[in-house]
Amino acid sequence: MANYVFLGPPGAGKGTMSEMLAERDGHVHVSTGDILRAEMKADTDLGQQARSYIDAGHLVPDEVVAAIVTKALDTDEVRTRGFILDGYPRTVPQAKRLDATLDAVKLQLDRVVLFEVGQELLIKRLTGRRICRECGAVYHVCFTPPKQADVCDKCGGSLYQRSDDSPETVRERLRVYHEQTEPLIAYYESRGLLLRVPGHQRKHAGFAVLCEHLHL
Ligand code: AMP
Repeated sequence: MANYVFLGPPGAGKGTMSEMLAERDGHVHVSTGDILRAEMKADTDLGQQARSYIDAGHLVPDEVVAAIVTKALDTDEVRTRGFILDGYPRTVPQAKRLDATLDAVKLQLDRVVLFEVGQELLIKRLTGRRICRECGAVYHVCFTPPKQADVCDKCGGSLYQRSDDSPETVRERLRVYHEQTEPLIAYYESRGLLLRVPGHQRKHAGFAVLCEHLHL
């Protein structure tokens, strides 16, 4: 099974595409953002440490995320099913650390998929995103609204906006992406691993485009 890194700005659809591919082909989906949010929800030490960075739209320190990723990757499940890393690495030092980790656990990175989406659409996607407090289903106030405002169609739970999806924090997250994450494009391009995929389509059309580019 191939191992992937999904790269791209916040709102590019990395999480949605990871979930769809993992469901179809059985990969282990490792989202550092999801893991950090779960820690915040459970109010663990790690969650408390991460909260101020996440709420400000900044990156959590490398050592913290690297430890999460090493733990998540070093499993028999990953070795048999393959992985999709969603939201990691986000800096060149993280990418170098990932290379070392993969060597240590005897795994290989096969492809880095870069989802390309224009800035205006990213802002619209992120600021309109709403999530069910109970089941985690994701909606969008314009693109995929729930039948009843702020109520989940699937389980009746209440919908909320991620604290870092507010317009000011979104602007900061995009700035951080351009400054700290974009250099990874050249890093992986020079290794022949990068695959650019247009990410502006809606969910199902976008997944079809992804599969086509990956020859899946
Ligand atoms: P995401 O759900 O991928 O948009 O991540 C949400 C937030 O979690 C980011 O804005 C960061 O604060 C933090 N985070 C997630 N992944 C990383 C990472 N690889 N390095 C540092 N911080 C991260």
